[in-house]
Amino acid sequence: MGNWRENVRSVVPYVPGEQPQFTDMIKLNTNENPYPPAPGVMQALQAFDGTRLRMYPDPNVTELQAALAEFYGVRPEQIFVGVGSDDVLAMSFLTFFNSEKPFFFPDITYSFYDVWADLLKIPYERKPLDPDFRIRTEDYEAENGGVVIANPNAPTGLLLAPEEMEQILSHNRDVVVIADEAYIDFGGTSALPLLQEYDNLLVVRTFSKSRALAGSRVGFAIGNPELIRCLWDARNSFNSYTMDAVTQKAAAAAVRDRAYFEETCRRIVRTREEAKKRLAALSFTFPDSKTNFLFIRHRELPAEKIFEALRARHIFVRHFNGERIHDYLRVTIGTDEQMEALYRALEEIEKE
Ligand code: PMP
Repeated sequence: MGNWRENVRSVVPYVPGEQPQFTDMIKLNTNENPYPPAPGVMQALQAFDGTRLRMYPDPNVTELQAALAEFYGVRPEQIFVGVGSDDVLAMSFLTFFNSEKPFFFPDITYSFYDVWADLLKIPYERKPLDPDFRIRTEDYEAENGGVVIANPNAPTGLLLAPEEMEQILSHNRDVVVIADEAYIDFGGTSALPLLQEYDNLLVVRTFSKSRALAGSRVGFAIGNPELIRCLWDARNSFNSYTMDAVTQKAAAAAVRDRAYFEETCRRIVRTREEAKKRLAALSFTFPDSKTNFLFIRHRELPAEKIFEALRARHIFVRHFNGERIHDYLRVTIGTDEQMEALYRALEEIEKE
């Protein structure tokens, strides 16, 4: 037997939410958008000339980068594009967290952060949220190798106020601070205006939630041109053609339809606010989410029991087995109709 195992990188991978293949299900487990992508996306897909697939895609993702620059009122050199924000975040960790000091993030947050850190051998420290699941900004004032804040946080749904984000930035001018704004379009206040003052801020976004393109895998980062250049350089030292040609066209079309984007986000927010009332009436408590999901806990019934009872009805939600969160379920906001079916099922389960 050889010793090859000594030199193997072994990791405990992130476990994504399941993608059941039933046709008759209500899928509220991975924070997807319940509405289809913008009509322009369908047109772009239909108009795509398949013979072009013999050629490599544009490595600089120019059209999408320009569309995003226009949408956000920044320069194209301020935009990095990746294959989902998972790709953007992994590339950012690789590029910006090279200190011997640990980088900081909350103990309850997106559970991919520590997986990338372990994979890339980056030291890290988790900072406990307070008992109400709030981030204590003072925890981020100690010396560190970088900071990542999901804002709003997942799976709690809580938003950090812009002043609190600025407080974290002002104590961390010598490291890169990443604001993972995957859910910001559902009523949050973005850190983007802080880019004027902080050249160490990187704002990361995704098309998977508010732009209904989870299946295409599109994410991006906005930051000062020097940070962004570093990201492109790292990506181009790894794989220059990460985003396929079809996705580049579809994603650019999604960005160009501002009205559809705003309308679908508004609808989801409206359904979420109604869900807060309905779930409170059904004996659930939850943090005040500003995302497209609610993190709910029943006053009596164990989360796992509800999870299984919903699953038996082909309603899928997410349960995390973490220490402080195993009593909770994360429920994505669906259409009004899907949510009505959820409330009906929960009423039945309460009576069982
Ligand atoms: N950040 C957070 C906080 C998320 O919840 C998710 C979704 N799982 C992502 C990033 C990654 O999203 P995507 O790779 O689909 O862009």
